[in-house]
Amino acid sequence: MDQNYLYSENCAKELDQKDPLKDYRAEFYIGNAIYLDGNSLGLLSKRAEKSLMTILHSWKKYGIDGWTNGDNPWFYLSQDLGKKLAPLVGAQAEEVIVTGSTTTNIHQLVSTFYKPTSKRYKILADDTTFPSDIYALKSQLKLKGYNPSEALIQVKSQNDILLEEQIIDQMKQDVALILLPSVLYRSGQILDMKRLTAEAHKRNIVIGFDLCHSIGAIPHELDTWDVDFAMWCTYKHINGGPGSVGALYVNKKHFGQDPGLSGWFGSRKDIQFEMKHELTADVDAGAFEIGTPHVLSMAPLIGSLHMFDEAGIDSIRKKSLALTDYMIDLITYELKEFGFEIVTPLEHAKRGGHILLKHPYSASICKALKSVRIIPDYREPNFIRLGPVALYNSFHDIWKTIQSLKQIMTEETYKNFANKRDIIA
Ligand SMILES: *Cc1c(COP(=O)(O)O)cnc(C)c1O
Repeated sequence: MDQNYLYSENCAKELDQKDPLKDYRAEFYIGNAIYLDGNSLGLLSKRAEKSLMTILHSWKKYGIDGWTNGDNPWFYLSQDLGKKLAPLVGAQAEEVIVTGSTTTNIHQLVSTFYKPTSKRYKILADDTTFPSDIYALKSQLKLKGYNPSEALIQVKSQNDILLEEQIIDQMKQDVALILLPSVLYRSGQILDMKRLTAEAHKRNIVIGFDLCHSIGAIPHELDTWDVDFAMWCTYKHINGGPGSVGALYVNKKHFGQDPGLSGWFGSRKDIQFEMKHELTADVDAGAFEIGTPHVLSMAPLIGSLHMFDEAGIDSIRKKSLALTDYMIDLITYELKEFGFEIVTPLEHAKRGGHILLKHPYSASICKALKSVRIIPDYREPNFIRLGPVALYNSFHDIWKTIQSLKQIMTEETYKNFANKRDIIA
């Protein structure tokens, strides 16, 4: 194919024509903007809307009996949805439960698996992860009587990239537990979870991953890799809606462990309503539930996960990589004189679902993009994050975005906007 054609609008349209997932776009409420922020909050699909309405309807129709009646009895929903998520993380159904939020699930799992001794009491994390993960780890250390400034090790990143070698170097004899992201929320780098888990286990260290930025974007093999535990949210690539319920994974080899934080929904479900004061914890990941499930905030997941089941994570990953490959090609070709740096690793094996660009005027450029109805997100201090989503973004979206960026840079319209962030970036 000739060069000019590769960068043309017709080529974008042809790529869309050939896209096996193209029909899913019509199932989403796209609006009149190009939405590239699905890695912060995914868009609403018609199926998710419908399943939310179905749950509301069962409340209307059954009242209290909705717990066991209707199309999706609420009492079993956490397990049912866990079963639907399991293939996305490479787990068995009973190892996954939909419950809590990422942050509360970190608290739950760290309070379960962090068992410090006088010789082994440190927690290993990184310096570029999402702040909530670090806040949770620090409070878990304090609850056990340790000083986070001594007992929390944060591996240093460089230019938002972490090197596995440097993480492994820090897996010392005094480390009790490791929590790392699967995909870094800023740079989009994938950490080698298989290798890190094997290295941690060689040293008898328990290891867990936060899958917030990889779930629904890349496949995982948690069982095969022998990861101890994991947690994630469902409102990013999974499109479960604002504040939708999170999920967790516990490797079945750990079944039978008492949960660090107990509540009555962690009980064996068949005897939960005997209301005994002695907890008999559930036999599987259900043991790590705490209180009454947030049914209305789980409801959209019924419809949303149906789409993942149908499309399959492998074809989603394939398109996601094609979208970011295309974006990288266009950025390199169209924007070369404007000083953008692509921070995200170019290798497929190391690239998650989004692209991070560095530019000194990132905040202004993001606002200029929004003014032409393109929705990126801004990350401090000078980054633009672009997250194309396989189920609803098109190749034409990418083409249009890069053309708009080129125009904003050429005409310098970004200079009309202050170079600082608004409240929510
Ligand atoms: C999005 C995200 C969170 C958010 O946690 P919530 O408890 O859902 O608010 C936490 N950690 C990471 C790595 C994230 O990407």
